[in-house]
Amino acid sequence: MANVFANLKSEPYWWEEAPRIAEVPPPLPSQVEVLIVGAGFSGLTTARTLANAGKSVLVCEAGFLGSGASTRNGGMLGPSFHKLGMDGLSARYGQARSLAIVRESIGFVDFLKDLLNEEQIECEFAQVGRFRCASRPSHYDEMARTLEQQKLATGIDAELVPRESVQEEIGSASFYGGVRYKIDAMLHPAKYHDGLVRVVRKAGGLIAAATEVLEIERKSSGFRVTTSRGTVDAQQIAVCTNGYTKKVTQWLRRRLLPIRSAMIATEPLQAELMDRLMPMRRCYGDSRRIMAYYRPSPDGKRILFGGRASSKDDGPLNAKLLRESMVDIFPELDDVKITHSWSGLVAYAFDHVPHLGEHNGLFYAMGYCGSGVARSSFFGTKLGHKMLGNDADGATAFDDLPFNTKPLYNGNPWFLPAIIRWHRIIDRLGA
Ligand SMILES: Cc1cc2nc3c(=O)[nH]c(=O)nc-3n(C[C@H](O)[C@H](O)[C@H](O)COP(=O)(O)OP(=O)(O)OC[C@H]3O[C@@H](n4cnc5c(N)ncnc54)[C@H](O)[C@@H]3O)c2cc1C
Repeated sequence: MANVFANLKSEPYWWEEAPRIAEVPPPLPSQVEVLIVGAGFSGLTTARTLANAGKSVLVCEAGFLGSGASTRNGGMLGPSFHKLGMDGLSARYGQARSLAIVRESIGFVDFLKDLLNEEQIECEFAQVGRFRCASRPSHYDEMARTLEQQKLATGIDAELVPRESVQEEIGSASFYGGVRYKIDAMLHPAKYHDGLVRVVRKAGGLIAAATEVLEIERKSSGFRVTTSRGTVDAQQIAVCTNGYTKKVTQWLRRRLLPIRSAMIATEPLQAELMDRLMPMRRCYGDSRRIMAYYRPSPDGKRILFGGRASSKDDGPLNAKLLRESMVDIFPELDDVKITHSWSGLVAYAFDHVPHLGEHNGLFYAMGYCGSGVARSSFFGTKLGHKMLGNDADGATAFDDLPFNTKPLYNGNPWFLPAIIRWHRIIDRLGA
């Protein structure tokens, strides 16, 4: 077999058309009204809301612009229902709150579509729907039950697809049916990120790359922030660091499990092969504990395939692991070349629900549990309104959910590799 990794690039496929640029950061002002930590989708949408309201805003980004998960993701978006379903959510937060959360979540895609239209951001947004594949017969039964609940709660436009019709959706013999959701969409995440940077700057916001926030000190009014490039006084602070949250905001770090997610891109495939494997060119995901997610590239020629690989940012190793998983699902891709392999960090909250709010004067939005493209944009916008004191515009169904940690957890999830290995074993055993 030819070496399928011969020309592997260890960086996101997205950066081919939307390259990252090492910017010279602007001089830092001595004071601002709002300082935002992190220039991903959360930080930039928070900044957009505040700058549009006339606030002086500085976004500090430790790396280059888009160095976090926001330009590394799969670009797939939908309501992102709770991992444990309505039952899991209700068990924790009661039925009324759970209903409010899933009903609000149904609006995430429209929210993002409106934002893109309003700001004229061209990022290959396409509302193609999602096919969620059942990896076991029992998963299909569970999906049918969950779908009924989702329909009752939200009226979502979705339908069960039995095993005999799976080939209409996906060219794989691995699945026992699935659910077709119409609402889900896809976009080019790095182009979306570039669009948000432009929008924030046009509204007067200052964005500084290579400016890490090292210390946040409370003053009698506001904060003094020490960065790697100098000190800035700020009246308000928003922390939007998700999977990259560091010790400088230890209270938040203790509430998040940073987990590496990785992706690969295939070389361009023959149109007939794409027609067979992804006839409807949708977003796809399966029902295993360690699930895989995949989609066509925006030009419809490649497959972009993601999931949990190793815990390291190791392009060649992750490419090998993800390719095995991809070929299990699509054996026809056995001799296809892999051109790109990349990864980034997502953040899970212990309750599998994203969180936003304020703690000790610091505002935050984070914990998107691997589904942050639409959620982070929605949460960032809501957070901006909260910081402006616009209570009605800032209110969400996710308000005031307890954001808990676990005893002795300090933000370093040393135990995760063992849990992931265990979940893989259960997946293989077919439970
Ligand atoms: C491989 C992969 C695939 C994914 N696929 C999908 C998908 O298909 N659909 C979906 O909905 N979600 C997906 N996600 C998740 C999604 O990308 C994230 O949830 C989302 O981008 C989070 O945005 P954010 O702005 O909160 O964080 P990020 O984009 O991660 O930005 C946080 C930023 O904070 C900066 N930072 C941290 N500490 C400091 C500091 N002290 N000072 C200054 N800056 C700091 C970091 O450098 C980083 O740039 C995926 C993620 C990965 C990694």
